[in-house]
Amino acid sequence: MNVVVETSPPNAVAVADRPPARSAARLTVNRISKSFGDMIAVNDVSCSVSGREFVAVLGPSGSGKTTLFRCIAGLITPDSGSIHIDGDDIAGLQGRRRRRIAVVFQQFNLVNRLSALDNVLAGRLGYLSAWRGTFRQFSRSDRLLAMECLDRVGLLSKAAQRADTLSGGQQQRVAIARALCQQPDLIIADEPVASLDPTTGGEVLDLLRDIARSDGVGVACSLHQVHFARNYADRIVGLARGRVVIDCQADAFDEHAYQSLYETRPARMAARGTIS
Ligand code: ADP
Ligand code: MG
Repeated sequence: MNVVVETSPPNAVAVADRPPARSAARLTVNRISKSFGDMIAVNDVSCSVSGREFVAVLGPSGSGKTTLFRCIAGLITPDSGSIHIDGDDIAGLQGRRRRRIAVVFQQFNLVNRLSALDNVLAGRLGYLSAWRGTFRQFSRSDRLLAMECLDRVGLLSKAAQRADTLSGGQQQRVAIARALCQQPDLIIADEPVASLDPTTGGEVLDLLRDIARSDGVGVACSLHQVHFARNYADRIVGLARGRVVIDCQADAFDEHAYQSLYETRPARMAARGTIS
């Protein structure tokens, strides 16, 4: 991944010799299932996310979105099926190699008492030895990269500010900068705008879409708002009761798709203004 500084405020960090952009990697999920006791949370799911692609994952509560993302992020192991990034099996990516996938959460998951910059630097922990990580001994290039990532999300001027003094939208942008600082192939964002007002949520999705397109990172993002998915995503994957019931280009997500996903009558969708 190559982080590109697009604007140059007076205090912007100039990194002259950036590495060339990595070729965009492709995530392939092949027929994974995951049960909790008798509950089949994810049932024979296959889908993919290419580098530079923004895929929205839609579905009612309990449809398996978070479980699918936790499987992809390597936080839990599916009962069956496989997940690959290019040729590499996720199950075989132990420890530090998991840094190829970064996760953004609904509740931001920042360390409140740390500065924005120190939170972003946490994205480099997977690159440090255990000893250096314990004492947060980051290299100069790590610090420069973290500042560049903060600049990328428009928050360089907040670098020294404690995370818990930032607004919700700013905290989520710090979390995205932390994900970028990890230099991942893929960003998984589980309902990243659910705690934000619609305008701020739109700004965060704008940023994620731009990261997908400009930085060559695939983004998979679960959402509850259909209009956000249609406006920002390239493709929409719909889950219902743990199964993929829709996988289509965002502009092809129509009333019929909405109905099959939420099992409601089309008239309700129009009334709720979720589709035009
Ligand atoms: P979503 O994110 O779409 O709301 P989840 O993946 O969180 O859906 O949940 C899918 C189903 O799996 C739900 O019925 C949920 O109760 C169940 N589930 C998820 N995680 C666990 C768990 N750790 N233990 C037991 N059941 C779980
Ligand atoms: Mg969820």
